[in-house]
Amino acid sequence: MEEVLKKEVRFFKGVGAIKARDLRRLGVETVNDALFAFPFRHDDLSNAIDIEKIKPGQKVTVRGTITVINNHRAKNRRMVITEAIIEDESGSIKAVWFHQGFLTKVLKPGTVVSLAGKVDDRYGLSLVNPVYEVISKNIATKHTGRIVPVYRLAGALTQKVRRLVAEESIKYVGAIEEWLPQEIIDHEKFVEVQEAISQMHFPESLEKASEALERLKFDEFFLHQLLHGKARRELQTQKASMVPFNEVVVKEVVKELPFKLTNAQKKATFAILKDMQREKPMNRLLEGDVGTGKTVVAAVVAINAKASGWQTAILAPTEILADQHAHTLHRMFGDRVTVGIYTRTKRRVGEKEVTKKQMLDALRNGKIDLVVGTHALLSDDVIFNALGLIVVDEQHRFGVKQRKALKDREGDANGIPHLLSMTATPIPRSLALVLYGDLDRSLLNEYPVGRKSINTFLIQENKEDDFYQKMRDEMDKKRQVFVVCPIIEESDALGVNSVNEVYNNFVQGPFADYRLGMLHGKLKTQEKDEIMERFVNGDLDMVISTTVVEVGVDVPNATVMFIEGAERFGLAQLHQLRGRVGRGEFQSFCFLHPSGELSPLAKQRLSALVKSQDGFYLADQDLKLRGPGNIFGTEQSGFEQFKLGSFADIDLISSARDYAKDYLDEDPELDTWPQLKKRLLEYYEEVHFE
Ligand code: ADP
Ligand code: MG
Repeated sequence: MEEVLKKEVRFFKGVGAIKARDLRRLGVETVNDALFAFPFRHDDLSNAIDIEKIKPGQKVTVRGTITVINNHRAKNRRMVITEAIIEDESGSIKAVWFHQGFLTKVLKPGTVVSLAGKVDDRYGLSLVNPVYEVISKNIATKHTGRIVPVYRLAGALTQKVRRLVAEESIKYVGAIEEWLPQEIIDHEKFVEVQEAISQMHFPESLEKASEALERLKFDEFFLHQLLHGKARRELQTQKASMVPFNEVVVKEVVKELPFKLTNAQKKATFAILKDMQREKPMNRLLEGDVGTGKTVVAAVVAINAKASGWQTAILAPTEILADQHAHTLHRMFGDRVTVGIYTRTKRRVGEKEVTKKQMLDALRNGKIDLVVGTHALLSDDVIFNALGLIVVDEQHRFGVKQRKALKDREGDANGIPHLLSMTATPIPRSLALVLYGDLDRSLLNEYPVGRKSINTFLIQENKEDDFYQKMRDEMDKKRQVFVVCPIIEESDALGVNSVNEVYNNFVQGPFADYRLGMLHGKLKTQEKDEIMERFVNGDLDMVISTTVVEVGVDVPNATVMFIEGAERFGLAQLHQLRGRVGRGEFQSFCFLHPSGELSPLAKQRLSALVKSQDGFYLADQDLKLRGPGNIFGTEQSGFEQFKLGSFADIDLISSARDYAKDYLDEDPELDTWPQLKKRLLEYYEEVHFE
């Protein structure tokens, strides 16, 4: 990378230490970071309008003179409110700012300004918190009066500062080398990289912004495909741990299960067992909607592996889930395999708590056959005796990194471990094919018999009480209730406010007589586990939480899933949440509670959920109804690795995939395209260290 691109933004005029720290939180330290930290949207403020023409609800830019400006404090609050009157030839309008008392020093009466923002009529016609710019000194207008980028913010940052950083950085865009082969640019009629980056930040028109986006999305997909393509090719050349298929043991285990495996489970188990017999590393994705029984499949193949001395590691996304898996597996299979758990705070062999050293020894000398863990398992001091299989539960990275990170005492002498990824997120077939074409897939498309469908209701306005009654009825029958809250403000990333609010309403209102618990991201792991444990044990009737309960938690006695602000979640995510109930013998319910009036589109999405319980159907609907970007919801998205690209860009993904294949076929080392090779290496480091 050219030196100028490494220049740090903290040296920019107007940035300073505090803003530099906030920028760092957004991942913006250098010019290069700033160039690639794109705005998440553009506002078209290109036309200043006459003040007399302003109507409520509009987004406008106006130009005029400040005639009056004053600060005062809101009643009962410590908030400072700044009010000003701005006047042009046609009329005048009020502008209101909150928490920005310093403005009276900047926007003195007589100053000519440009203001851009939304028109509100709650306090009389006014512009609320408009972006301002002093234009009396004849400076070209930067933040108002054109298409302006809107960036993510943190801490004390303002759009103004973010734009300044972007603008300063764009001066160095000439140092970015074009890395996409000219042939592709010509053939696809892409804009050049420097132009694309500039237009992403400060587009001349929305059309140019969208061309730039197209080009840069392609970049992401192409790099992703090249990286995966290379990894796949390398994998083909490696030897895997050969794990024999011990039919006797497998038959015994299956016979001992308290239930009959579904046909889909049998088929998947068989496919995995056959894969693992081979010298070629398995790379299989086990897909199955919530409740289709993926864990048992993983357990059976782990027991088979143990029969010939191989260990299995199951990686879970959260401590709660790891703990639950460990308990379940120990309870069901404890007399066949020694089950361990290893997370930051939990270390057990069977039910016995052990020290870290004892744990590491047990893994190293092969005393543990099956270990469940979180990220902690990936740390350097964890070494296995003979690791035959890695299972990655509920995630989408397909474990390339994990396979590399987990170490075997013999190194690769045993061969590398097989890899099984399990997910409940339905990926439409068309997309899976282009994204992960040669990943083997097994589908659990069958529910264990006896599962009842979950009655799903969309709560109409003012009908809450009926549903609260139903929830009380369930709890009176000793059933339990999940309540999930959305994260509404960016500043409440941990969900504290959101959960607190619902909790307080419930505990003082309709559920005053019940035992309620709260879970949010600010609680310590131990506190979270405690609450969850009390819930699992039936010592709480209701748990109110953020989406932490989304993945995998099994509480068969829970029969109601109440989703607050349901329209704020993606369909696929709602479907996942609903899957938390209906796991036991009782009829279960899912209540969708909108936080306000629903848009027609939101209504359609929620109705789809009321009608269907087929995850694949819902994923398709989500794609149709919601459009790009959000299909998997935010947390489980397999697309988090793409900053710009989304699920809806299937044509672009497909084209990137074809190019990647051609290029790797022609020259696997990519030496023919040194620029491309260099960029791919950078990309590898970016994704590797994130
Ligand atoms: P998921 O696919 O969502 O991870 P789990 O593996 O947690 O599902 O299984 C959900 C529940 O169904 C568990 O309690 C499990 O013991 C049970 N289960 C799994 N397979 C069967 C089956 N074939 N018949 C009956 N119950 C089953
Ligand atoms: Mg599961």
